[in-house]
Amino acid sequence: MNFTKFPRRNYLQGPTPIESMPSLSSALGGGVKLYIKRDDLLPGSGGGNKTRKLEFCIADAIDQGKNAIITCGAVQSNHCRLTAAWSAKEGLDCHLILEERVAGSYKADASGNNFLFELLDVKSIDVVSGGSDMVAAMGKKAAELAAAGKKPYIVPGGASNAIGAMGYAVCAEETMGQLNEMRLGIDHIIVPSGSAGTHAGMVVGMAGVSGGIPISGVNVSRSKDVQEEIVYNLAVELAATIGVKGGPAREDIVCFDQYVGPGYSLPTDSMVEAVKLFARTEAVLLDPVYSGKAAAGLIDLVRKGHFADGSQVLFLHTGGSPALYAYMDTFRQG
Ligand SMILES: *Cc1c(COP(=O)(O)O)cnc(C)c1O
Repeated sequence: MNFTKFPRRNYLQGPTPIESMPSLSSALGGGVKLYIKRDDLLPGSGGGNKTRKLEFCIADAIDQGKNAIITCGAVQSNHCRLTAAWSAKEGLDCHLILEERVAGSYKADASGNNFLFELLDVKSIDVVSGGSDMVAAMGKKAAELAAAGKKPYIVPGGASNAIGAMGYAVCAEETMGQLNEMRLGIDHIIVPSGSAGTHAGMVVGMAGVSGGIPISGVNVSRSKDVQEEIVYNLAVELAATIGVKGGPAREDIVCFDQYVGPGYSLPTDSMVEAVKLFARTEAVLLDPVYSGKAAAGLIDLVRKGHFADGSQVLFLHTGGSPALYAYMDTFRQG
């Protein structure tokens, strides 16, 4: 794969570590060996997956001479936090549209990522109700800023367009390089599947390096069919953008939707268990909304015997731990 023709900033300081998780593996019976790719340790205030995507999206904005970034997310969005962080670092204004997906969930004085929006000096926060047309809301903001003489650039939710998802094609290539160097044979990769750029990017990147490792997504909001279609469409667009021949096959896109629970960002018992288990066995901090639910899926699949005995499974840790501080009651009660 050749990424050199796309504008790109240098936010990474090298590959994120791949570590083994021996204590967690034995806590789950020891039949499956678990590994973790630490994208929670990516640079950017608080870490997490959006930094890889923003290397391309913010570079595209700068390349076009823009000076104000607009993006959107949920009230505790890691994506909004990292967009604010890299905008601050680049000297760009950042404006956020927050979707109150759970009615009444926005609190101006909330902890977690919300507190960091303020610390990172976002220029405006507009809160809209769940189900609002976010593209329209960002377009309206862009028109206002343009009228005020600014040059706005819209980064879509989760930075999950073909530009942002390229960051995860890069990650797949990086991962395969590390596995070859470590001579570590991985049979399966598990990733969270939200706005879909991570999942689509990993699948396309894996195809681009002919790595052949199956990748499954664990959904955080949508049903299997709907999510697989979203991931597939983005993967096709991304493959065309990068020039990965043949594109991904529809059957390469696999999602599990049994771990969503009552809905996006709403806690589940298995998420609480997963967050505690990762913390207490591997001292790895997950988050309540994404990596915690994806890890709940991983744990359940291991327990159910989904992976053959003796197989080695890599979990992509996409970060998000700052959101833990907005959910302390959930973990204290759980
Ligand atoms: C955004 C996010 C995800 C999901 O990645 P997508 O590319 O949106 O599917 C997973 N984990 C964390 C911590 C995130 O912030």
